[in-house]
Amino acid sequence: MRKLNMNKIHLLSAGLSCVFLAGCGTSSEAFEKSERASAVALPSAVAFQESGQWVRPDVAENPSTRLLGEPLASYEAGLERLTKAPFNKDFILADVNFNQVRWFTHFSGDISGRFIEVASNVSSADEPWPEVLNALLDEIAQYQKEDGHFGAEVDWEQEIDFDPTTDRTVMMPILWGNGRLLLGLTAAAMKFDHPGVKEAARKLGDFYVNTVYPRFCDPERVEEYRTEGQYASAYVTCVYEGMEGLLDLYKVTGERRYLESACKFADFHEEFDVLPVGHSHGSLSQTSMLVKIYEESGQEKYLKRAVERWDAVVTGGYVNPAGSVLEKFWVTGYNRDEGCSEADWLRLNLLLWSNTGQTRYLDMAERLYWNGIQPNQWSTGGYGHRFMGVDDVGPFAYLKQSQESLWCCSFHVPWALHKMLSFLAVGSEAGIWYNFPIGFETAVDVGEQAWIVKSNPAEDASGPNLIAYNLELLGTPGAAVPPLHVRMPDWAQDVKVRGWKYDRETKEELEIEFALAKSELPGRNVLTVTTSEKITADTLTYQLLYTARPFLEDRRLQRVDLEKALEEKVERLEGVAYRQGPHVYMNKSSGAIEDIELSAVNKKMGPFVEMEDRDDPHAFVINLLLESGTEE
Ligand SMILES: [Zn+2]
Repeated sequence: MRKLNMNKIHLLSAGLSCVFLAGCGTSSEAFEKSERASAVALPSAVAFQESGQWVRPDVAENPSTRLLGEPLASYEAGLERLTKAPFNKDFILADVNFNQVRWFTHFSGDISGRFIEVASNVSSADEPWPEVLNALLDEIAQYQKEDGHFGAEVDWEQEIDFDPTTDRTVMMPILWGNGRLLLGLTAAAMKFDHPGVKEAARKLGDFYVNTVYPRFCDPERVEEYRTEGQYASAYVTCVYEGMEGLLDLYKVTGERRYLESACKFADFHEEFDVLPVGHSHGSLSQTSMLVKIYEESGQEKYLKRAVERWDAVVTGGYVNPAGSVLEKFWVTGYNRDEGCSEADWLRLNLLLWSNTGQTRYLDMAERLYWNGIQPNQWSTGGYGHRFMGVDDVGPFAYLKQSQESLWCCSFHVPWALHKMLSFLAVGSEAGIWYNFPIGFETAVDVGEQAWIVKSNPAEDASGPNLIAYNLELLGTPGAAVPPLHVRMPDWAQDVKVRGWKYDRETKEELEIEFALAKSELPGRNVLTVTTSEKITADTLTYQLLYTARPFLEDRRLQRVDLEKALEEKVERLEGVAYRQGPHVYMNKSSGAIEDIELSAVNKKMGPFVEMEDRDDPHAFVINLLLESGTEE
């Protein structure tokens, strides 16, 4: 094997990788050199990539990840919102004890369950956060009814009181809320040994097994279930929101009957699980649940349903170019998004990646994070609904904010972002999956070895169409360096890698020898970096250089060939999205589909996160004028 010249880099104190990388230079010659060297692939990388087997990696239940920079500020603002008014104990518990009049108390368990769920997820086991959480857990079980549910007394055998004109009905809203509360109680039971919580979760789970399933999944009563209801209080939305809590209860108790019940619910659900549907939040959360059932049961039919649903919503136009979906799971004809739906769409994509290895799901998650979830956040830190510009094709712009939803989205988006922290870098027997070029630090396990992964944007990428990240791996000195699987994003025309090792004895940074292998497997766009066996931990730094030239898509997320259009002297491309890097460019000054000259794009448009006034309308669809032919 050809030996690389071991460049001497300046001495540096550990951790200052940006400083030393500036010294390393990022010239294209240097990268070409390392690419030639990589023609000699090490056997392990090749064997891994060609095996075709996908083994679900160890996605951490309790991620140690800390975001950095702008994503951290946004995430922390979301959590901070939960510590402010109106979220005190009485407000939160009003949907189970009716101590005050507030919105949606008849969705019993909805706010209380969501609050307990996100707070339990983000807390450490020895430190419940925020302060009100302990009081909620102390008190909530006393409001549980004899049959196990929370909320008003109900005769469950009566006819379902559907009303297509209002959500002010009794039976369905209670089932929705109790489904969310089962998730809250199981999340708390997984995290804390708090007296009475696990028992309350079990009693509520038994209500689903003994009462809800026989009453609401009865083949003899399908006609009744088909009666039209208002979208938030519809049968399919409300009855099946309890499935995932049952699955979690199985994890908490180890009792198989809860898993079996979840499967039975999921099977009966299939007939009612259709598109379009009035409630994308309910629909997408239930599709995620199917993936989780697959994880626990191994039954591929559930994963298949979720994969087919993903294909249907993406090819069917339910997902707009910014990666988000409408509050109603419609292609068009409605004009608001919903934070909860973005949250569930994010998690579904992450779960589909970890269960299939297909990187298109990570591409979608990333698109959604930067271009769909960020515009949904309020300056208060909360999330909710934003008006969207919508025409016959579908959404084309974010308009003014509509409602800060202090009843669902402000809990559910932070919850999903916390889940996302487990997916930024993921450990597995096969190595480390580096999924998102975003600033973060985390710890992952590869077999018996623990690794710290630090991902930082590099300031100087040496070119307008380059995005560089420094990735540090810190492991126990002497440990074999695991393969690093770098996702090749849909927006990157190329990814190049260099690597250095800090030698403690000589206090030098040495460029390391490694092999690169692009996955040949369809849909798995990954570059695997394998070092020679002579290289062992402790501090390794990789520099990842992504080529990120602008490109175009139509409103159904299909590529539009800009180069070809220029060659053919096309004057105007109607209804396109302009993308660069993970960003779908947005019009800084207008929420309408405007004509914009190619040469003016960088002046008039930019990434949403760089907008000066985020609450202004911003269109993500334009008509691109090429007439001038002045390509930037
Ligand atoms: Zn919501």
